[in-house]
Amino acid sequence: MTETVVAVFLGLYLLHFAVETGLDGLNLIHTGAGQGVPPHLEGQVDAETAAKSREYTLARLRLGLVERAVTSAVTLAVLLGGFLPFLEQWVGAMILAIAGPPAGGAHLAPHFSVWFLMALGGVYTLAGLPFSIWGTFVIEQRYGFNRQTLAGWLGDRLKGLLLVLVLLVPLLYGVVWFMEASREGWWLWVFGLVTGFQLLMVWLVPMVIAPWFNTFTPLEDQELLKKVEALAEQGGFKAKGVFVMDASRRSGHSNAYFTGFGRAKRIVLFDTLLAHMEHDETQAVLAHEIGHYQAGHVKKRMVLNMAVTLVLLFIASRVAGYPQVFEAFGLGGGSPHGLLALLALCGGAFTFWFSPLFAWISRRHEYEADRYSVKAVGKPQALKTALLRLSRENLSNPVPHPWYAAYHYSHPPLARRLAALTPQQSPVPA
Ligand SMILES: [Zn+2]
Repeated sequence: MTETVVAVFLGLYLLHFAVETGLDGLNLIHTGAGQGVPPHLEGQVDAETAAKSREYTLARLRLGLVERAVTSAVTLAVLLGGFLPFLEQWVGAMILAIAGPPAGGAHLAPHFSVWFLMALGGVYTLAGLPFSIWGTFVIEQRYGFNRQTLAGWLGDRLKGLLLVLVLLVPLLYGVVWFMEASREGWWLWVFGLVTGFQLLMVWLVPMVIAPWFNTFTPLEDQELLKKVEALAEQGGFKAKGVFVMDASRRSGHSNAYFTGFGRAKRIVLFDTLLAHMEHDETQAVLAHEIGHYQAGHVKKRMVLNMAVTLVLLFIASRVAGYPQVFEAFGLGGGSPHGLLALLALCGGAFTFWFSPLFAWISRRHEYEADRYSVKAVGKPQALKTALLRLSRENLSNPVPHPWYAAYHYSHPPLARRLAALTPQQSPVPA
């Protein structure tokens, strides 16, 4: 039985690896084979930008390929190389050394589960660090995007670690506690806890966490502010919720986004975007973000996440009844830490089929927000030039492979998005 479990897992795991690596390969060949300005962007992108965007895309793709190969090898080694039982022993010994011999031992069980999972997370964080460093200080640097020093970068990592300790560790304690205390229906309790946590984060991220990493200032440009107020009034969005973020302290990439709901909702414009755009363009982008608010996209995504979480937890609760699944990877049957570790390590092999679905939903939301912008501002040309400018300044891939874009892209590829903004014309005979 344990052999069957390993065989099924390995089959799906390798399929997942093959699908994503294959898509990367397709995109690499497709992007690398292109020459000059792609025909559908003729006159809208210059040759130099097109070439530079291709090079940048290829560099990021190659790094991604190596990173996937390494992390996949780590996962296989962890799952099949006896690392999990080794980690169990090691964490057990550490807790024993710190807390002393357990009187009965049961009271140490939640600590054991949480610190086992944290140690496992630590292994992946360490494995990912070289790629993050290379990505920032070699690739981003080479293309003129990086503005961070190594000290600044390390500071960000430390802040991230603190957030994990303050937010994630208590959440894990809660999850483990419910798993141990309420035998049968634990998955429902954990669902409630995780959903509460997600709701808290929707408020905490824009109001507390993001301002810890960046400075957010209300929009100052009076002329633009007037336009924003008119737009906001039309869209039922408070203009006070529009902020400019000092993104330029980290990177030259520019963007805008809408986040949160209730009192915590806000539209954020990167200072890098504001610096290069005409008023009409910024207005069109802001209207796009108000479009996300109008259509309730944040709430819709939240509900979708909740549904996925509920289904995954239910499946996990059923799996917990099969000790063979745990034994296949060297773990004792039915333990909370074992189940959560297997969920984190193996889950992707079963759920990656949903990636294209979620990406498709996200792209539909983008089209919807674009349509809102055109309706509210009435300047499709301004939105087009804004998108072209964003694409040019971020060196976005001008010619992604359609399958790659369908699987990964949360935003429609530029050419499609521009085409959707162009009213259909009936063919005129020459
Ligand atoms: Zn959008």
